[in-house]
Amino acid sequence: MAEVSLLRCGGYAPGELKERIIEGFEGCRFPLKSFHGTRVVLKPNLLSAAGPESGIVTHPGFFRAAAEIVIDHGGRPVLAESPAVASLHHALRTTGYDEILKHLGIPVADLSRVARISYPEAKRFKTFEIAHAFFDAEVIVNLPKFKTHGLTYVTASVKNLFGAVPGMRKSQLHMKLPKREEFCEAILDLYGAFLKGFHPGKPLVHLMDAVVALEGNGPGTGGRPRKMGAVITGTDGLAVDWVATCVSGLNPRLSPILVLGFLRGLGVSSEQEIEVVGRQIEDMRIEGFVPASGPGMTGIIGVPLIKTLLNKLFVGKPVAKEDRCSLCYQCMKICPVQAIEKAPAGVNMPQFDYDACIRCFCCLEVCPQDALSIRRGMLQRFLR
Ligand code: SF4
Ligand code: SF4
Repeated sequence: MAEVSLLRCGGYAPGELKERIIEGFEGCRFPLKSFHGTRVVLKPNLLSAAGPESGIVTHPGFFRAAAEIVIDHGGRPVLAESPAVASLHHALRTTGYDEILKHLGIPVADLSRVARISYPEAKRFKTFEIAHAFFDAEVIVNLPKFKTHGLTYVTASVKNLFGAVPGMRKSQLHMKLPKREEFCEAILDLYGAFLKGFHPGKPLVHLMDAVVALEGNGPGTGGRPRKMGAVITGTDGLAVDWVATCVSGLNPRLSPILVLGFLRGLGVSSEQEIEVVGRQIEDMRIEGFVPASGPGMTGIIGVPLIKTLLNKLFVGKPVAKEDRCSLCYQCMKICPVQAIEKAPAGVNMPQFDYDACIRCFCCLEVCPQDALSIRRGMLQRFLR
């Protein structure tokens, strides 16, 4: 049985947040004394250089409250995160994290130092290169933001650990596994590595910022901040993510990470094994939370001609809005298969090669202008 603490939190006022976070640790029986005398990695979601109110990043106030609790309990926090494209220092400045780090004297992990973590029972990748800081630490505090995601339906605790893989290695992984289910299996492999690949094992706790979540075409600028009013804490990432998805009103059975994760023995294997403490899901559930429009059935068949036809009918694709695009070409830089080219003369948006595109939607994640969206496949539109 996995205990998940679900607590109501009205905003990012430091006093209330710290109370809820401490209550959350106690509720899921994570001992605060684990921090005493240890190096503690804090892993927020800093997907891009977005403002604190955007709903895209773990709110700096949330990070600050968590860091102060670690320090108050004798721990030495270090921040480890690798944004998708923006430099970490740019992201720290834009989000307001840099002031907090300076004020509290928290170092930022050097992400150029990597180490290999293994998980022999993995389905797709048995090893990953992750930031060395995770090996150096004795305790890992995962600080995800609850957001919708065009490819994986939602992004929460389990997916947030993907940020431990530095920089462009992330899009290389997308390229190797273009199908949604395969990619989600790889995310679960990484989660399995975090659970079983450290020797000795490390305490890992998930402390989710769902005070303001992101709905719509997340996880980047295509989404909209939406108040959810929750702090969700637990040591089982799948259980925490299940509870968060239920509170949002989305259907957790549409999340491949949750469905496949339950089958993999990486913690709970069904919702019956989750005990929610604090508030009840029914009391906290919000109405009308908007999912991402989603890719539909990605990579559904391997025969090239049929694949092209079925892709057109069933699979969403990224499209640019000319009036929003600033021609920054961050989408082009992140695309793992070079399916994006610069705009020709007289056109104000990049050009997509949809035959090459593997529908990973990394371009949507990184676009700073909300200039990209997912257009549904022809038959998907017709059926709607
Ligand atoms: S164009 Fe966008 S969705 Fe397609 S492969 Fe490139 S990054 Fe992924
Ligand atoms: S679509 Fe977005 S990321 Fe790509 S060039 Fe335009 S503004 Fe930049």
